Amino acid sequence: MTDILGGTVLDPESGKTGAFDLRIADGVIQEIAAAGTLPEAQTDVIDASGKIVTAGLVDIHVHFRDPGFTHKEDILTGAEAAKRGGYTSVVMMGNTKPHPDNLETLRYMLEKGGQTGIHVYPCANVTMGMEGKQLTEMEALAAAGAVLFTDDGLPVTDEDIMREACKRAAALGKMISLHEEDHAYVKESGVNAGPVAQELGLTGASREAEYRMVERDIAIARETGCALDVQHVSCKESVALIRAARAEGLPVHAEATPHHFSLTEDAVRRYGTLAKVNPPIRTEEDRLAIIEGLKDGTIEMIATDHAPHAEEEKALPFVQAPSGMTGLENALSLGLRELVKPGHLSLLQLLRCMSTNPARIAGLPGGCVKEGAPADLLIFDPEAERTADRGVSRSSNTPFTGQAMPGVIQTVICKGKTVYGLV
Ligand SMILES: [Zn+2]
Repeated sequence: MTDILGGTVLDPESGKTGAFDLRIADGVIQEIAAAGTLPEAQTDVIDASGKIVTAGLVDIHVHFRDPGFTHKEDILTGAEAAKRGGYTSVVMMGNTKPHPDNLETLRYMLEKGGQTGIHVYPCANVTMGMEGKQLTEMEALAAAGAVLFTDDGLPVTDEDIMREACKRAAALGKMISLHEEDHAYVKESGVNAGPVAQELGLTGASREAEYRMVERDIAIARETGCALDVQHVSCKESVALIRAARAEGLPVHAEATPHHFSLTEDAVRRYGTLAKVNPPIRTEEDRLAIIEGLKDGTIEMIATDHAPHAEEEKALPFVQAPSGMTGLENALSLGLRELVKPGHLSLLQLLRCMSTNPARIAGLPGGCVKEGAPADLLIFDPEAERTADRGVSRSSNTPFTGQAMPGVIQTVICKGKTVYGLV
């Protein structure tokens, strides 16, 4: 048994906040009591005075590169980065080698994820080899433990295949997560089609690439009833389309990344390939539209798209360098710095977007602090400052290194055990 004493408990699910002590036993929250009133017992004690005690964060969009690209990250190093960022549940994307388009690879991911101490869930691919041609055995993959379907990294370009995938996913009660970038509108990836791209002698990736596919897939959601998740929304037109779809009652969800709500295309000028991501970081107007989407609930989830790449890969010329940045270790701090401090979101809203909502939407346990719930918890000080360091991910491709960040994590507990911080 462990008691967490003296903290301010904030349950992102119910919104209940106050001075409560928690007792955890057998991996669950056994009791929540007014501060100082837990019955006497022999327990370990974690002193949380001056800290927020909330649900462990949930990220439904991470790339752990395992199997196939473990020089960038593997499931174990990725999980360490997740813990350090306050996460107790993550969903791995499937652009690995081999892909999770088959049971053997899915089982490898589940087995290795099981060694990490946190909840590491695999997706399965929508199409074989993410080639967009032939659907996977979706029913068998879901039965074996895939929590959602995605070809993230690539769009599902063929409309008939997308429609068929949606029908099958809807029958399974599973969501399809979508990387919405029609390559017909992408000259060079990773930089917004605009002035910064021009300076680099490039055309870049246009906003049409994203919102035209979002528009198409909202129509498919309407037709099939399939739950869709628009990943890493990058432009204001997509936000508007998703807002309208949700007003219509369609099961359309969306994610924003910390980099899309923190940066503009100027970051490419300043940080070069470290700011090369797909879809690209766009204009201030787009950034503000994404924040507006988070504020009014159009965008329900913050997901990192944690995308590790080796230093030598990011050192390549802009066009050859791979897209993506690491994100797990700075996400909470960027949420505090860019959303809570300027008054866009309350701390409760931020934590909902980072735990309760992704858990509910992807059908995962966690994301709440209540009796009987899993003891997946995060204890942190939102006011304390730190400097973003290299981190513990195998890769460190982020432009945020060295920056001042609010938010210091004291302890992360998963399944009742301390997985990061004080032991
Ligand atoms: Zn993606």
